[in-house]
Amino acid sequence: MNRFEFARATSVAEARSLRAEKPGSVLKAGGIDVLDHLKEHLVEPPRVIDIKSLPGMKDIAVEADGSLRIGPLATLAQVAAHPGVQKSHRALADACGEAASPQIRNVASIGGNVLQRPRCWYYRLESYKCLKKGGAVCYAIGGENRYHVIFGGGPSYAAHPSNAAVPLVAFGATFTLEGGKGKRTVAAADFFKPPTANPEAENDIGADEVLTEIRVPSAAGMVSSFQSFRERAAFDWPLVDVAAVLRLEGKTVKEARIVLGAVAPIPWRSRKAEDAIVGKTLDEAAALAAARGAIVGAAPLSDNGYKVSLVQTLVRRTLLSLA
Ligand SMILES: Cc1cc2nc3c(=O)[nH]c(=O)nc-3n(C[C@H](O)[C@H](O)[C@H](O)COP(=O)(O)OP(=O)(O)OC[C@H]3O[C@@H](n4cnc5c(N)ncnc54)[C@H](O)[C@@H]3O)c2cc1C
Repeated sequence: MNRFEFARATSVAEARSLRAEKPGSVLKAGGIDVLDHLKEHLVEPPRVIDIKSLPGMKDIAVEADGSLRIGPLATLAQVAAHPGVQKSHRALADACGEAASPQIRNVASIGGNVLQRPRCWYYRLESYKCLKKGGAVCYAIGGENRYHVIFGGGPSYAAHPSNAAVPLVAFGATFTLEGGKGKRTVAAADFFKPPTANPEAENDIGADEVLTEIRVPSAAGMVSSFQSFRERAAFDWPLVDVAAVLRLEGKTVKEARIVLGAVAPIPWRSRKAEDAIVGKTLDEAAALAAARGAIVGAAPLSDNGYKVSLVQTLVRRTLLSLA
């Protein structure tokens, strides 16, 4: 790890000016991903700015209209354990509660979770100058690609790793960002960016911006579920995630949002799966039709065809858990 200066910001404005003073400086929330980057020489910042104690950015509130206001510095454990989130936005609580391990969830912030960089081993190894580090090649093609994408790949094939991002997209969350041009709000669905325009970025955050708030609309009248499959129950990343948010009238699906995680460079909304169940009775046949819909367009690489079956199984299982 290279030497760097450490600074602690007490306001968003201070965090931004500390970063502007020394270009290349990085913000640290829980520091789980930042520390990995420092240790592997993936970033060599002149200054690391601790934002963990910024006032008001850890709060979680259920508003009068049933929507959620979540400070991006709230830990995954806090979001997972919050009774209001559990009651109204179950899939989000479960996604945060299943990530990583108890130790990590107690430190990692939800903001850092959605902004973490991909787990691709070529990206994570200093010696590979891959597309995500300004190189010319995605080594997953023709390389070891069992954890990579089956949807939306190219030119980079690294999967989006965030658990929390999957239900946030499904619930129609928005992110508030504060930077030099002021405050802006972006829908989670538009925030995550495929690698086509810029393979080095997974999202729309500007170099001078701080994520200051996450808003999740009310889910009154909706039910939701999050299911994840991973090789180990803890200290591991998902192979496939599924978040489903449904509006049911009796047993009939009136509205559906189904989002897949860890299978695409962004949280992947599966409209074919949604179309397969809207207007139908939520039963085994509908869940199976949605599972089949979810894999339309899948383009597995040489070693990750198993993810296609996993998507089918998890979509079916997630929907049946709501039936
Ligand atoms: C063994 C292991 C297993 C894991 N398993 C999972 C898993 O199953 N699912 C999963 O989703 N994740 C998993 N993770 C990843 C982990 O959850 C993330 O690294 C963590 O959530 C990042 O949060 P943080 O607060 O530590 O972010 P940091 O490391 O502090 O920051 C991450 C990035 O976000 C930026 N950042 C953070 N906050 C802000 C902000 N408010 N504004 C602007 N930029 C900001 C930082 O500059 C940095 O670029 C795992 C990690 C490990 C080590």
